[in-house]
Amino acid sequence: MRSRGIALGRIAGVDVAAELSTLVIAGLLTWSFASGLLPIAVPQRLPIVYWSVGIVGALLFLASLLGHELAHAVIARRNGVGVESITLWMFGGVAQLTGNPPGPGAEFRIAAAGPAASLGIGLAALGGSFAVGWSGGPEVWVVMLAYLGVLNGFLAVFNLLPGAPLDGGRILGSVMWKLQGSRSRGMHVAALAGQVVAALIVLGGFAEMFFTESYGGLWTVLIGVFLFNGARAEANYYRTDATLGALTASQVMVSPVQVLPLWTSVSEAVAGPFSSTQQTAVPVVDADQQIRGLLVLSRVKGLPAQTWPTTEISRVMTPLAEVAMVWPSQPLNDVLNVLGPSAHALVLSEGGLVGLIGPDQIRIAATQRNQGTGNVGGSGHPAMPAGGPR
Ligand SMILES: [Zn+2]
Repeated sequence: MRSRGIALGRIAGVDVAAELSTLVIAGLLTWSFASGLLPIAVPQRLPIVYWSVGIVGALLFLASLLGHELAHAVIARRNGVGVESITLWMFGGVAQLTGNPPGPGAEFRIAAAGPAASLGIGLAALGGSFAVGWSGGPEVWVVMLAYLGVLNGFLAVFNLLPGAPLDGGRILGSVMWKLQGSRSRGMHVAALAGQVVAALIVLGGFAEMFFTESYGGLWTVLIGVFLFNGARAEANYYRTDATLGALTASQVMVSPVQVLPLWTSVSEAVAGPFSSTQQTAVPVVDADQQIRGLLVLSRVKGLPAQTWPTTEISRVMTPLAEVAMVWPSQPLNDVLNVLGPSAHALVLSEGGLVGLIGPDQIRIAATQRNQGTGNVGGSGHPAMPAGGPR
């Protein structure tokens, strides 16, 4: 989706990168520290003092964002979830996790780790401010550290708002997961709540602009819009995931399935099962009726039509080793996860082949269940998506 950014190195075994857009927050923060906060709180210092403290303050804030993400990453790893990378960008940080937490407890701990870290960093900064003041250190640093403390506290609270993709939404999702027994359904609730929370943030931003008669609220509006889009994408994804999880392979498969022997020509297949059935793939069998592979329609379409009469399907079929095989009772979202490059799955029971599932069956199932608004999530999993100030 977005670029991976500029590599900053590895911290605690996690690749850390920053997008160029990180410079936007760094710049905005430096500017607001050096030309607003510091001169107002501690007047009559040289500009170089304000700007140097402002730059270091902005860098410390970025480091605290990184601390928040690292907390997610470390706890994720401790709970058996892989961590691909951490990226800083315009709206904060993103910890890219691979795979889903094994249970609602793990989901809860991974989500809560970030705000807990922000809170800890905030308290440490306040403590630092107090220490500098107590030891008679520079006043600008007393102010800067105190402000970083407050910012981190705000970050912790903001991220705890109960709507995905914010951490508070993940926490809500984990609780719903525990209560409802289904991760997709829990996360769907969290994503719906996320749309409400994001809409309120947008409204809050507009109200801020209206009442302060300044453009300060524009940033809030942008964050709200960003969160709303994230929440909507997740809602679609998890609704489909929950829907498909409620269906089994046998409920959507094409059955019975027509098969063809190895020595059939491609044109016979086109004139046969591909014209007369719903099948977008045909299992290919040998003389003993053993399945040897799968002839996929999209592969046939890629062949020049003049070669069809002279090409045996055994030469263009997908070998059996690369074809997914599922049980009739397998939940459909499981089936989605095992579909290989052929995009089809054979449904087998003890007695042999009973059905076939292709992209059409999955699309139809998702659409019917969602009353015409089907949206197949496919392979992507937005569990820890491009998640704003996560
Ligand atoms: Zn977070």
